[in-house]
Amino acid sequence: MLLTINNLQASIDGMDILKGINLNVNAGEVHAIMGPNGSGKSTLASVLAGREEYEVTGGEVLFNGKDLLELAPEERAREGLFLAFQYPVEIPGVSTTNFLKTAVNQVREHRGLEPLDAVSFLRLMKEKMQLVEMSQALLNRSLNEGFSGGEKKRNEIFQMAMLEPQLAILDETDSGLDIDALRIVASGVNKLKGKDNAVIVVTHYQRLLDYIVPDFVHVLYKGRIVKSGTKELAMELEEKGYDWIKAEVEAGA
Ligand code: ADP
Ligand code: MG
Ligand code: MG
Repeated sequence: MLLTINNLQASIDGMDILKGINLNVNAGEVHAIMGPNGSGKSTLASVLAGREEYEVTGGEVLFNGKDLLELAPEERAREGLFLAFQYPVEIPGVSTTNFLKTAVNQVREHRGLEPLDAVSFLRLMKEKMQLVEMSQALLNRSLNEGFSGGEKKRNEIFQMAMLEPQLAILDETDSGLDIDALRIVASGVNKLKGKDNAVIVVTHYQRLLDYIVPDFVHVLYKGRIVKSGTKELAMELEEKGYDWIKAEVEAGA
């Protein structure tokens, strides 16, 4: 098992947000986490990323058998976890290229591999640029500085392709995500996924799942996964919205 989440509970400012999340993710799988606004999807992603403002109040998370919650955010990245918003900051004066050279070699060092020399690094860049249709001009600019929404997305997906994470968690919070950005994310995910890695896509847009076909769909509501299924569940949600799920939960409560 790549990722095991057992009864995970978390709070922010003393407010309980995650109330016992259970989730198992195997290599080779794509999971979608959906749910109405405010249900805790971004909180879950943030807790897995190790963002400080969230307090874990119970449960455990194992990544490749290791206690993920013990690791600092950058250690999680080195272990092979990628979160799209780990690097959303604008870094003036640091190009994507320089940023990635450091990040890629840190991951390699952690895996016991030699750092890439300049030539090999450039070769890898070229290969991945073609894969995600990234332009050289974008790479030469300071990281995220003045990037449009679509450019940020493409850059994010490019970073993911370069780092070859074992598990990528993409939180598609942006309500302004246009169809181009959706396609960029989807094609990146579809190219990354393989038998050795897994992807968790967090979204409340069924539309994204027209492009990414998930193996499993989970509905998060009020801090719990209240329903799991396959892509048919996403289609049902597209058709019927979330009200029937809320009703089921209230009836069962
Ligand atoms: P989702 O991503 O499903 O829309 P979130 O995880 O963003 O949901 O939010 C879940 C709940 O936690 C909401 O009630 C939200 O208001 C609250 N919350 C999330 N982040 C914070 C924060 N930084 N400070 C205070 N409350 C927060
Ligand atoms: Mg939200
Ligand atoms: Mg969110």
